[in-house]
Amino acid sequence: MIPFNKPYLSGNETEYIKQATLSGKISGDGIFTKKCHQFFEEKYGFKKVLLTTSCSDALEMAAILLNIKEGDEVIMPSFTFVSTANAFVLRGATIVFADSEKETPNIDVTKIEALITLKTKAIVPVHYAGIACNMDEIMRIANKYNLFVVEDAAQAIDSFYKGKPLGTIGHLAVFSFHETKNIISGEGGLFAVNDDQFLQRAEIIREKGTNRSQFFRGEVDKYGWVDIGSSFLPSDIIAAFLYAQLENLDSIQKQRKIIWNKYFEGLKEVAQLFEIKLPFINSYATNNAHMFYLCCKNIEQRTALITHLKANEIGAVFHYLSLHKSPFYNNKYKGNELVYSDYYTDCLLRLPFYFELTNQEQTKIINTIVDFFK
Ligand SMILES: *Cc1c(COP(=O)(O)O)cnc(C)c1O
Repeated sequence: MIPFNKPYLSGNETEYIKQATLSGKISGDGIFTKKCHQFFEEKYGFKKVLLTTSCSDALEMAAILLNIKEGDEVIMPSFTFVSTANAFVLRGATIVFADSEKETPNIDVTKIEALITLKTKAIVPVHYAGIACNMDEIMRIANKYNLFVVEDAAQAIDSFYKGKPLGTIGHLAVFSFHETKNIISGEGGLFAVNDDQFLQRAEIIREKGTNRSQFFRGEVDKYGWVDIGSSFLPSDIIAAFLYAQLENLDSIQKQRKIIWNKYFEGLKEVAQLFEIKLPFINSYATNNAHMFYLCCKNIEQRTALITHLKANEIGAVFHYLSLHKSPFYNNKYKGNELVYSDYYTDCLLRLPFYFELTNQEQTKIINTIVDFFK
């Protein structure tokens, strides 16, 4: 069986875990956490980053930091992971879902302004498959209406918008190191702060509402309870694993791009012949090779293709189910039909994608898909 995903160990993971374990300090913000923070700040120019236990937790930090409360509205695409919305719902927000673009599952920026009310607090664009949303337009709207932007860059490490690293554009941003992402630590995430006003409070929220981080830097002589918060920081053992991955980021990205390009070249002819949609990359965006997907004509065709691939021992999987139609939210949703969100819900299929996927396996996957359509 060719699985959909296989976590990749780049070499030094277990060695660094051993070092962290023997260092005498395995709680959060140890040596490896500091190395990871430095890596991100130096390579991508974030003002400040903080490792978190997951991207979901980083989203919860964002919601706390923005003082989201009962009745506030937050705009985001419906075609996204549960956590994008859940983090704000936990603070009492109402989610206002926007449709995806025709060409990509990203939020359709032409639909945002009509959704803004006096209660709107934030926009949460999701860079689907690591491909940038139209950030200039999102930031223009946010500035015009005085809203905050939280980039859900869970899939978007090492990807760019007009040369700017994703996650450095919004006021806040979040990343994921879940084992299905490009760079992994099993579970894990990153919180990025780009706006000075949030720098100090972000640390406090991550440390259970205490000013312990300032205390450890010697900025205050005792630490205590100063705000709300939770335990959002990972053990240094997790950071050790992550740091090994970061050291190999360039080689991981290089290999993933080779895999992505082979899919694209191998499938473009059949896609054109049978009106199957392949990923579209706008000229303002780069491709970080997070995922390769194709969009079938309808759900029946997609189900048949999944079955055909499974019969040939290939694990291909669909993705999000529109959140506005979810069992939890459908009775709360009061907006319009979201045509493209539903289209991606029904038609999008993700192909096996991981570092160790061999050229031979990929050829088999491509041929199996071509056979299915022909
Ligand atoms: C993976 C993902 C998340 C959640 O990440 P975790 O680290 O598993 O919490 C959130 N949003 C998007 C868009 C994702 O792809």
